[in-house]
Amino acid sequence: MADQSKLIMKACLKRRNGKARKLQNSLLRWYQGNHRVLPWRSNPTPYRVWVSEIMLQQTQVKTVIPYFNRFMVRFPDIAALAEAPEQEVMALWSGLGYYSRARNLQHSARQILERFSGKFPQKFEDILALPGIGRYTAGAICSIAFNQQQPIVDGNIRRVLTRVNALRVRIPESFFWDQMKLWIPAQDVSTFNQAMMELGALVCLPSDPHCPKCPLLHVCLAKRLGLQNSIPSARKKQITQNIKIAALVLEQKGKFLITPLEKGDFIPGDWGLPYLKIMPGMAPEEVASVLCRKVLGRTIPLVSCTRVHHTISHYRISAYGFCSPAFRGCKPIEKARWTSSTGKLLVSSLFRKIIVNYRKTAATQEES
Ligand code: SF4
Repeated sequence: MADQSKLIMKACLKRRNGKARKLQNSLLRWYQGNHRVLPWRSNPTPYRVWVSEIMLQQTQVKTVIPYFNRFMVRFPDIAALAEAPEQEVMALWSGLGYYSRARNLQHSARQILERFSGKFPQKFEDILALPGIGRYTAGAICSIAFNQQQPIVDGNIRRVLTRVNALRVRIPESFFWDQMKLWIPAQDVSTFNQAMMELGALVCLPSDPHCPKCPLLHVCLAKRLGLQNSIPSARKKQITQNIKIAALVLEQKGKFLITPLEKGDFIPGDWGLPYLKIMPGMAPEEVASVLCRKVLGRTIPLVSCTRVHHTISHYRISAYGFCSPAFRGCKPIEKARWTSSTGKLLVSSLFRKIIVNYRKTAATQEES
């Protein structure tokens, strides 16, 4: 298989290289008339390109747009992001998931401030050395913001190249990078790279690609062979994990008791409502009672007050909320704090959702 893929790679690279100029022109023309207007494209500074690319990892464009706009208002430049409290960055990221991306963004901003006096580095190697930035993101910043001749390969581009070359066997990742290196023009790199990604997002779709509208139709082997719907074959999806938790919703003067979250927890943020996972075979009430002893040092009567469903990354969470009118007078553990439901310490939208539902239930009970 290794020899076979090497031969295929060699043949593809040779064949396509000769057609690069025609392909570039046709792709660039298509992009001018068809690309989407997106906020990060209007003023593609390295900072804006970087933030958008990090947000777009694992997240759809329509979800990212409002987050990007809010982020730019609050953190318009590297210094603003570097100097902000981490909790504020996490609060603005809340709901986007994969929170290590936000932490790395801020670590990188701080490094740029210290090592490059706040000016975004232009060298590919310097950008690649920043936390959370891989080959793709470094290439995107260099090409889109600085128009440097750097190739990029993302999922969309990989799919286009797989089809244009009618690749039916698994090919090493280096093939895609080599192909982009051969195709990339000396000028207009920024537009070319964005056009390749846009083509995958709008025309060369995972299923039912719109081939008649495609600017690469004249070079596409998959279309010629009638394989455009069968390659690339579907990838295995990450398995979703179902998790149940019991959480305490203890309110005092409009504020809620929160405790530190463990590092590396699947729930984002440093603080949250006290909670424990419900292991198979255990009842939510039983776990809530254990939690109560852990947080308040003793057991008090608990009432089931809400149940919410929430998804974080690939975790599907069922949360059982428990409150208690009898907790006043109990002394929580030393590390606990009180916060309002909109407080910056409460980063995860899971906890906010639990509180909103708890309040709705309380209001309904008061009315009836
Ligand atoms: S012709 Fe069809 S399969 Fe080939 S690159 Fe274009 S959209 Fe994709």
